[in-house]
Amino acid sequence: MSKLTIVGSSKESGVLGSQCYALDDILIDCGIGMVRRDGVTRSVPPELATLAGRSTKIKAGLLTHSHLDHIGALPILARNNLIDLNAKIWATPQTCNVSFDVCKDSVQHTDLYDEGDFLLMPDFSPIAAPGEFEVLPGQRAWAFPNGHLNGSSGFVFRLKSGKNALVMGDWCSHDQPIVKGMLPVSEWPEEWIPDMVIASDWTYGLSSLEAKRTFASEAARMRTVIRHRFEQGMFIRVFVFANGKMQNVARILADEFRSIGVPIYIDGRLGKKVWKTYRDVQWSDRDVPVPALGEQSGIYEVEGRRHREELMNAQQPNIIITSPGMGDVGLGPQYLQASLPRRDHFVASSSFLAEGSNLYELERLLDGHPRYRDGDDISFSVTSRNKEQEEEAVLVPMRAEYDHFGLSAHNGPADNLAFLDALIERRGGAKLERYGVGHGAPEARAMGAQLVRHYVIDPDRNVIDLAPGTVIDLD
Ligand SMILES: [Zn+2]
Ligand SMILES: [Zn+2]
Repeated sequence: MSKLTIVGSSKESGVLGSQCYALDDILIDCGIGMVRRDGVTRSVPPELATLAGRSTKIKAGLLTHSHLDHIGALPILARNNLIDLNAKIWATPQTCNVSFDVCKDSVQHTDLYDEGDFLLMPDFSPIAAPGEFEVLPGQRAWAFPNGHLNGSSGFVFRLKSGKNALVMGDWCSHDQPIVKGMLPVSEWPEEWIPDMVIASDWTYGLSSLEAKRTFASEAARMRTVIRHRFEQGMFIRVFVFANGKMQNVARILADEFRSIGVPIYIDGRLGKKVWKTYRDVQWSDRDVPVPALGEQSGIYEVEGRRHREELMNAQQPNIIITSPGMGDVGLGPQYLQASLPRRDHFVASSSFLAEGSNLYELERLLDGHPRYRDGDDISFSVTSRNKEQEEEAVLVPMRAEYDHFGLSAHNGPADNLAFLDALIERRGGAKLERYGVGHGAPEARAMGAQLVRHYVIDPDRNVIDLAPGTVIDLD
């Protein structure tokens, strides 16, 4: 018997939630979600109580990649006595390195865990290369690069019934500067072709069925707009996620500005650590190493507080890429308070913004005031969150120019369906035995459940919404 238990996921409208599944005694990802309650944004763990009622503890873990919604709750597993202390957590070498850095960094702004919890954390075990490996004695799986992030992977499990079950992870078909798109299904080995998809990615399930703006076209628009504003004498501040987005955006802008000798600065401790991993470690030939910082790449780090202040108070415009991506914690509020009041600043964000975050709220404000740069006086309340998840707000005049660049590292609905077309073809036309619609807000999963029906045998029974607490018998 093989059973899949949905530990993470989301049942709240508009909320992406965490990804966390248990396939029998193997945990797959263990993230945290962000939820807005009573006007305050909080990070929430998956429903680990779902695991507490089991007769056995978790014996092994597997991580698809190192984003917080996939790994952020790892440190609390041991504290809650849910995982065997000898369990190994399998992941690609990059995911092993960066996951630890991400959790350490999160200690600064979450009350879910503290430094002490790291002492109990199970060991990370790197999956040496893409291909087959043994998660637990007798439990085989196949790991493949899924194109979401440098070192990000999906997995196919061999169930006790002999069937193959696919866990996609967050995935992406198009190339990004730091990683090429997912290994095409035409290149998957015959013996690992899935009979069912048990966990899918509908993060962008509500984006239009027509292709959204492609990564390449948004990257080109970002280069052009930022070059133009810089040449008009504007300071550039781009808010990005530290893990993946920062490395992508820095490379795209360095390509544009290196030829005219303008440095690109990156600021944020985690982003710099991640940089070193993506420079030094490659797992598959689809990982594209990031260049060394310095003269050759044209990308430099902001070296500390004094250097940051020099750049902020400089006479001549400069370009800084900083984390976090939603501007809420760490350096985010400080940069926003300095930049938003200045007409000579161009502020940009890229991709996902959770409801209630600074940049989400800023976009909402600007939607209501499209002509604010032509005399409409408006103010914005920059909120910062501390470790106790308390919020503090500072009101500043909003005069800077703002834009959003949709550099998504996920597949949209059209890509999901194109993948299913290719998979059904590999299966000689046979439909899938089961499809779990996962990792998305409930509305996005509902859309996914409609769209995939055509690809699944007896869809009323076998297309399954991966809501928290659901248990699926896979035999
Ligand atoms: Zn991700
Ligand atoms: Zn995710």
